[in-house]
Amino acid sequence: MLMGFDIGGTKIEVQVLSDNGEVLYKSRQPTPDNYESFINKIHEMVMGVESELGHFNAIGIGLPGAVCPITGKMKNANCTFLNGRDVVADLSAATGKAVKIANDANCFALSEAVDGAGAGGSVVFGAIVGTGCGGGIVVNQSIVTGANAISGEWGHNPLPGYCPDVDGDIGHCYCGRRNCIEQYISGTGFAAQYNHKYRADLNAKQIMALVEAGDEQAVAAYQLLIDQMARSLASVCNILDPDVIVLGGGMSNIERLYHDLPAAIRRYIFSDDPKVTLRSALYGDSSGVRGAAWLTK
Ligand SMILES: [Zn+2]
Repeated sequence: MLMGFDIGGTKIEVQVLSDNGEVLYKSRQPTPDNYESFINKIHEMVMGVESELGHFNAIGIGLPGAVCPITGKMKNANCTFLNGRDVVADLSAATGKAVKIANDANCFALSEAVDGAGAGGSVVFGAIVGTGCGGGIVVNQSIVTGANAISGEWGHNPLPGYCPDVDGDIGHCYCGRRNCIEQYISGTGFAAQYNHKYRADLNAKQIMALVEAGDEQAVAAYQLLIDQMARSLASVCNILDPDVIVLGGGMSNIERLYHDLPAAIRRYIFSDDPKVTLRSALYGDSSGVRGAAWLTK
């Protein structure tokens, strides 16, 4: 059995998986607002699991944020009280267990690579395209973390093949750079492009409803989105050449992407007859907690 935690801004979820991925236990608690309470809460939840299922040697934790490879301390966590803390050491001391931590996008990629939409692929790129744009790389069912713990963070690469006349100038990203991939292909980015161009005030879902109805402007915006996504993913393929790309996040629910995007990606790949396998995530919101559990395998 494997125990994983997903740390969200408002809720902490724990799940226990059997070795073949069946959910044996799950529970949710509100996320505390300070570090000491957080450590105590995880300890308490571990004891709750063990009172029902017996002893565990390890726990996995998935959260938005990363353990700095140089200092071993947390950085970029959405629960800001975690930043600068040695969460692995402190949780390990409190629970008496081995603690594995990974970024939530990496947990998503691991979950999908082990027994989700990327199962069977030796190299899986998990791309979360929702309000933002993140990603994780899993090779032979192991997360590739990287020297700076930023592996897979393709959303803050500059948009490949950027052309101001075609793509427009979105301006600065919150990360301080300009024209990041995230600013174009995330749900918010797609809507911002559309609203800027057509002086509208719609969200991605509303624009996609217009696309389905055959609205000319919306279809043009969607075609540009496909081309921007294709450029962005082809540049990933040319470096990583994944067996499977798994899409998660709100934009992954656009069904026609799986028809239109693979052909568009192929056009930009450095190969005569490239194979591109693009799939929608299988586990949705549970990917984070499942990936966290698989960390302990
Ligand atoms: Zn950026």
